[in-house]
Parts: sequence; C-alpha cells; structure tokens
Amino acid sequence: MTRLVTFADGTTVPALGQGTWELGDDPALRDEQQQALARGLDLGMSLIDTAELYGDGRSERLVGEVIAGRRDEVFIVSKVKPENASEMKMMLSCEKSLERLGVERLDLYLLHWEGRVPLEETVAAFQELVDEGMIARWGVSNLDLRAMEALMQIEGGEDCAANQLLYNLGSRGVEFDLLPWMQARDMPMMAYSPLGRGGLLEHPLILDIANRHGAEPAQVALAAVLRHDGVIAIPKASSVEHVQANADALEVQFDLEDLERLDRAFPPPTQETPLDII
Ligand code: NAP
Repeated sequence: MTRLVTFADGTTVPALGQGTWELGDDPALRDEQQQALARGLDLGMSLIDTAELYGDGRSERLVGEVIAGRRDEVFIVSKVKPENASEMKMMLSCEKSLERLGVERLDLYLLHWEGRVPLEETVAAFQELVDEGMIARWGVSNLDLRAMEALMQIEGGEDCAANQLLYNLGSRGVEFDLLPWMQARDMPMMAYSPLGRGGLLEHPLILDIANRHGAEPAQVALAAVLRHDGVIAIPKASSVEHVQANADALEVQFDLEDLERLDRAFPPPTQETPLDII
C-alpha cells in the first residue's frame, strides 16, 4: 500500500521513505546496505534522507552509488550542518553534497539543527540555492514550535517546506502542538528515528500487537507514526529483509483496542513538552 504526503507546493512523496545515518561507515557492510536501499527504491520507498554530517559524507556517497541511473525515481533530502548554514559557507557545502550524491539538484535541503548562524541568514542562503537551481526547496530539522514561529516572522521563512523531528511511539511530544501547527500549514513532518533506533522493537506491547496482526514489530512502530496526516517516516534499515518488512508497514490497520493499548503504554502528551532530540 502506498500513501502519499503532499508538500505545500503540491509535490507528493511517499509517506514511507528511507534513512541513511551510519550507512556507508563499515566497508564490509557496504554491498548489503546498497542492496537494501535499492530494494527500498524498487518497493516505492523513494524518498531518501541523508546529511553531509553522516559519516563525513560517506552516507551521501553510498546513496549516490545506489541512485546512479535512477535519479528521476528518487526524492533526495540532505542536510547542512549548522556551522555551514551561512551565506559564506552553505553554497560550498551544497556543492559538495551534490557531488557526493552525483546529482545536479537536491529535492529538499534541511538545516540539521539551529546553531549560531541567525535563521535570517540561513533563509537567505537557502533562497540563493533555490535561485541557482541547486535545491528545489528547503526546510529545517529539530526546530521546536517557538523556533518555527520565529522562522515564520523572517522574510522568506514561510517557504520552509518541512521540519524533520524525532518522532516515534516513545517520543510523542510533537503531537501536542507542533504536529497540528505543521498540519495546518501543509508542512510535512519528517519523523526521524521512527523505530526508536530499534529500541522500540522489543517492547512487549509492540510484540503483542505485531503477533495479533501477523506483522513485524517494526511495521507496528511505523504504522503508529504514519497514521497521522502529513507525516513521512524515514526508517533506516541495513538489510533487504528489514527494508521489505518496513515497506509493508501500511498494511497494519489498528483497531480501537490496539490504539487504546498503545495510548496506555505510550501516553500521548497532555501539555507542551520540550522537543526530544538525538
Ligand atoms: P530508526 O530508523 O528508528 O532505527 C534504525 C534501527 O532499526 C537500526 O538498528 C535497524 O537495524 C533497525 N531496523 C530497521 N528496520 C528494521 C526491521 N524491519 N526489523 C528490525 N529492526 C529494524 O533510527 P535512525 O537511523 O536514528 O533514524 C532513521 C533516520 O532518520 C536516520 O537514518 C537519519 O536518516 C534520520 N535521522 C535524522 C536526525 C536529525 O537530527 N534530523 C537524527 C537521527 C536520525 P539495521 O540497520 O540492522 O537494519
């Protein structure tokens, strides 16, 4: 089953994409990891998330090898480190990312987290890259509601296409205010670490619900974040087996009892909660 998420400019992407943190770090695992990413593309998980930070460019290089000859199938997201998010440095960072990825343009370029460079300057630098045709759109990551509201006050800030945030069953704070705020603006939320970095997959309730549905625990964890509108999940998987399991996450249809049990074990927020960040 494919579900699409739509950006404010009308562009659609699959709700289920692929993360790549730590992919490419171990040369012995490279082939398997490339096969896994390629299988994900075959299965329609065509949004790939990477960053200049990951393995100091190794993740982008590995992604570049996988998507060679398949550029048109892929929606590529990469991220600029906060210290490079200035008018002086961002263009060079982006050029290097494009080179490692072997593409002429990123589909989405994110500020990895807010650092010392004022957001005004970062927005201006992003706009320059859009004007140069190096990126199709830009967004942010790890910005809380207050920071997003401040961003909206900046000239051009409303062009922010997405915010990538830590979101999984064990970390639901964004459901209280930030997710509804983004949904109201047609700004997709990219859920990072949707499997809790794998830590959620041993939880007895997740195992139990998975058994009930004849599903994998990872599918349950992913289905739980994907049931909200405007959410894109980017699980990272290093094997074809894991990718195939993740690709079927949307087959899991929770009933009321599942949802009540999930809410008891992983309570939704009842008040403003500081943003969880890795
Ligand atoms: P994650 O996707 O929540 O979890 C990855 C872990 O789950 C790995 O150990 C993986 O094992 C395992 N896994 C994947 N599919 C599985 C399956 N079907 N069954 C069992 N285990 C499975 O964690 P993450 O990598 O932290 O987050 C995902 C992506 O979000 C990252 O790769 C990165 O692209 C992005 N991210 C962004 C930020 C940010 O600040 N913006 C921060 C963190 C992450 P194998 O590798 O062995 O398959």
